[in-house]
Amino acid sequence: MDNKTEGRIIKSVAGFYYVQYNDKVFQCRGRGNFRKKKITPVVGDWVVFESSNPTDGYIMDVKERKNELNRPPISNVDQAILVFSAVRPEFSSSLLDRFLVHIEDNGIQPVICFTKMDLIESAEYQKEIENYIAAYKKLGYEVIPTSAMSLAGMEDIKPIFKGKTSVFAGQSGVGKSSLLNALMPELMLETNDISDHLGRGKHTTRHVELLPFEGGLIADTPGFSSLDFVEIETEELSYNFPEMKQRVSQCKFRGCTHSSEPKCAVKKAVEEGEIPSFRYDHYLEFLQEIKDQKRRY
Ligand code: GDP
Ligand code: ZN
Repeated sequence: MDNKTEGRIIKSVAGFYYVQYNDKVFQCRGRGNFRKKKITPVVGDWVVFESSNPTDGYIMDVKERKNELNRPPISNVDQAILVFSAVRPEFSSSLLDRFLVHIEDNGIQPVICFTKMDLIESAEYQKEIENYIAAYKKLGYEVIPTSAMSLAGMEDIKPIFKGKTSVFAGQSGVGKSSLLNALMPELMLETNDISDHLGRGKHTTRHVELLPFEGGLIADTPGFSSLDFVEIETEELSYNFPEMKQRVSQCKFRGCTHSSEPKCAVKKAVEEGEIPSFRYDHYLEFLQEIKDQKRRY
């Protein structure tokens, strides 16, 4: 191979970076200028590395990142599987919208995955969940209902990984580890057994690693990113709601926040039932939160 090659970090342990190039993995250390720029390589980084033998090498440069998550530390993510349980804990559309805004703002494609479908007890609640599934599908999102218990939905979820780098995200206890284990039995992730009567699970931390799966790469450590809106401006918030984004240009005022402004295309669409009112309510809730945060800083 060439002395200088571009590869991708798939694992990082104790100062060593495992860089994949074609079908080989090189154990590398950092060297070179990027360290002066205070850049610490993370899993997912595309890097330039040098090697004079078939097993080891040195990372000389880190390519610019498309995006970057903190928990787990991973870069250049294409897709996030947002894992939400139907029950235990009960589904919250407000929390899902919060995750969606966050993920969209990072330029990551979301996929919504409902888990624990087998635990739904009443027909009414089943209907409620189905209505949400239909609503999010109508917004253009991919939605996949699953059960790690009955393995329902496992065949539906597999094709989404092809050609992409994916992470799993969601609250603790929703079934991320169980889902990963159902898809990749060799992983044997420790699952969180319900630790209290509120149905919240415990936290377990591991080193992140990108594993090949169904023609793509999956981060083996589920993420739970911090979900405040510090970096989002009030005028930008609606761009993270696809059904609003497509209408913003029809609002009378530039920089319309779709709250108190007249001749607002978003408000009109809500009134006409084209945008679900629960989405608009969450939008207003988040908008207020951003305003409150700005006041505090
Ligand atoms: P994580 O914290 O998101 O990784 O959640 P876990 O995968 O650890 O799951 C939390 C709890 O929910 C565990 O007791 C699992 O056995 C249980 N669980 C997860 N998925 C399912 C499911 O689809 N059906 C049922 N019945 N239980 C599940
Ligand atoms: Zn507007």
